[in-house]
Amino acid sequence: MRDKVTAIVLAAGQGKRMNSQVAKQFLSLQGKPVICYSLQTFEQSSVDEIILVTGEGQVDYCKKEIVEAYGFQKVRLVIEGGKERYDSVYQALRHCAPTDYVLIHDGARPFVTLELIERMIKGVKEHQACIPGTPVKETIKIVNDANDITDTPDRSSLWAAQTPQAFCFASILQAYDCLYKEKGEKAVKITDDAMVYEAYIGQTVKMLMGDYNNLKLTTPEDLTLAEWLLCK
Ligand code: C5P
Repeated sequence: MRDKVTAIVLAAGQGKRMNSQVAKQFLSLQGKPVICYSLQTFEQSSVDEIILVTGEGQVDYCKKEIVEAYGFQKVRLVIEGGKERYDSVYQALRHCAPTDYVLIHDGARPFVTLELIERMIKGVKEHQACIPGTPVKETIKIVNDANDITDTPDRSSLWAAQTPQAFCFASILQAYDCLYKEKGEKAVKITDDAMVYEAYIGQTVKMLMGDYNNLKLTTPEDLTLAEWLLCK
């Protein structure tokens, strides 16, 4: 039987760094809400079903104005997320019907491509856990609280992590269960799913080539860049 693949699309953030009243995933890009771009790409992919995670009190809005309005057929569930990104992911993992693999994607990355999604699906079947990323182009500095540089890591081994991050469902659920049992210091520093897997499963995660255009819309200038990318 064919393996089942579930995509979790996260849209429960408040987007404080965007300085906007509207959460960044619902802002309009060329007349369409940001979240619709990645949902559309997952819809066209070989993913079997999608769980959309949204903010408190936004479930009905999302069902009507996003899922129904744009005719997304693969969105099986729309659920409320939690306070932090990892809370939203955990909520979604607990709502996943039995599945073999999960792809966890930031809804704030509208430019994920079909090619990248399929690369991650192929990758997770081979490696059990993989994430997309790109080699950093700039020199990265470590600074202290006073902004004094304390270190300059070797650039050749630095990659910027992106989403969708892909895992065997049973393992990533187990990793998040462990995180929640502990939920101390470690949780505060969690910024992606690979970190949870690395910490609690104790196996390596493979880095696969991502896409420099797979931007995460975070600050107002990212929106300008996104509009520009759509026009070109
Ligand atoms: O805040 P950050 O840019 O890291 O958010 C990445 C993604 O995680 C966004 O798509 C955002 O909507 C989502 N998120 C979430 N629940 C939170 C915080 C962020 O679903 N509590």
